[in-house]
Amino acid sequence: MKGRVEAIIGAQWGDEGKGRVIDALWDRFDIFARYQGDTNAGHTIIIDNKKFVFNSLPSGMLYHGKLCVIGNSAIIDPELLLAELKELQDKGIDRARLIISRAAHIVMPYHKILDKAQDNFRGKGHNHEATNIGIAQCYVDKYTRSGLRLEDIVNERRLRSKLEEILEIKNMVLTRLYNEAPIAFSEVFDLTRQWGRELSPYIADTSSEINCAINNGKNVLLEGTQGTLLDIDHGTYPHVSNSSHISAGGCVGLGIAPQSIDRVLAIVKSYSTRVGDGPMPTEDNDEIGEFLREKGGEYTTTGNPRRCGWIDMVALNHSMMVSGADAILLTKLDVLTGLNKIKICTAYEIEDDLYHSFRNGLFFFSDAKPVFEEIPGWQEDISECRKLEELPIAAQDYLHIIEKHCRVPVIFVGVGPERHQTIDLGL
Ligand code: GDP
Repeated sequence: MKGRVEAIIGAQWGDEGKGRVIDALWDRFDIFARYQGDTNAGHTIIIDNKKFVFNSLPSGMLYHGKLCVIGNSAIIDPELLLAELKELQDKGIDRARLIISRAAHIVMPYHKILDKAQDNFRGKGHNHEATNIGIAQCYVDKYTRSGLRLEDIVNERRLRSKLEEILEIKNMVLTRLYNEAPIAFSEVFDLTRQWGRELSPYIADTSSEINCAINNGKNVLLEGTQGTLLDIDHGTYPHVSNSSHISAGGCVGLGIAPQSIDRVLAIVKSYSTRVGDGPMPTEDNDEIGEFLREKGGEYTTTGNPRRCGWIDMVALNHSMMVSGADAILLTKLDVLTGLNKIKICTAYEIEDDLYHSFRNGLFFFSDAKPVFEEIPGWQEDISECRKLEELPIAAQDYLHIIEKHCRVPVIFVGVGPERHQTIDLGL
């Protein structure tokens, strides 16, 4: 009998709380697969007051006996991946088996140098994601068929011949275009060969393994990274990441059939946040934004404040549509406690016209003003609520409004960061 396949997608601009949701689902799945994205996409899981942040590894690494998969479309920064693996080994919590697709592309040292050189050349503010060092260049090489994949770096002869060819061109670009120093072949070769040796135990044909496992009744969770509105094709281009964060990205990234996905779970934060430039119609630069930022701890790992604002149903509806979401898992409802009024953006007003659906183009956002529905807030602490009826009526109303606009049920509510601080409504 076929195993069950479910996909987790971030429905906003990332940081929705995907890690904690995956943690709530850990015992239902045998395989945790990371299908897209890059080292920029962190998941945070808090168990027994211990915080684990995974930037490269699937969240399933924390659970005994699971198989964790990094698929074909994932980008690997070996330096970060090996450091994460070592940290888990040192703490004695590398509990799962890891396999990495031989087709996954490698972020090389020259990608980081080129990324910085390009940013310097273009001037400040051009990098859409400041923490994106090396990743964009890695994707450039992938799509110009000049990238190095895991299968290349575990084979010394292949690595040498490919790298010689690649470095000749990279050095030409670095020295002639950016006026930077050339990169020494031996340094990059030695480092990459060492990465290859350390990563060779994990290399696999992940698509075959995962399909075989599904056919043998194993349950698979597709761990989406980042968020739909940062999707390269369906987000707010050009202020987006380099990969696909919608549910179909799981099929492309892992090599599984679309019809194998049984359920798509959209992770939605109770308000909006965004890192970096780009449209965010409900952003609040006043006290509400400040309230959400402080109460929600909305700072990046490098300490930069996230942009914050009210929930945006126009954007959310777009995310539900492109991923075919079956249900919403709502996180951080506790952060809204203490507000007198809560606003919900139900449309954008553009030149006297009302728009209820999202248009994929920057021109659309330049004059978009959010139209809000306003409801009363609640003052009661909800962090100990475990049933819907225990939530204040105003909080229940908030959930129902989200369900009404998105036309899917809310089946999980996060009322605090800890594993037990949840309300299960049919997860
Ligand atoms: P991801 O980037 O979507 O995987 O988001 P994370 O899983 O890393 O979560 C972002 C942050 O939100 C982490 O610090 C979590 O502990 C925190 N978080 C997640 N859910 C809740 C919640 O329901 N309430 C509160 N207060 N914090 C939460």
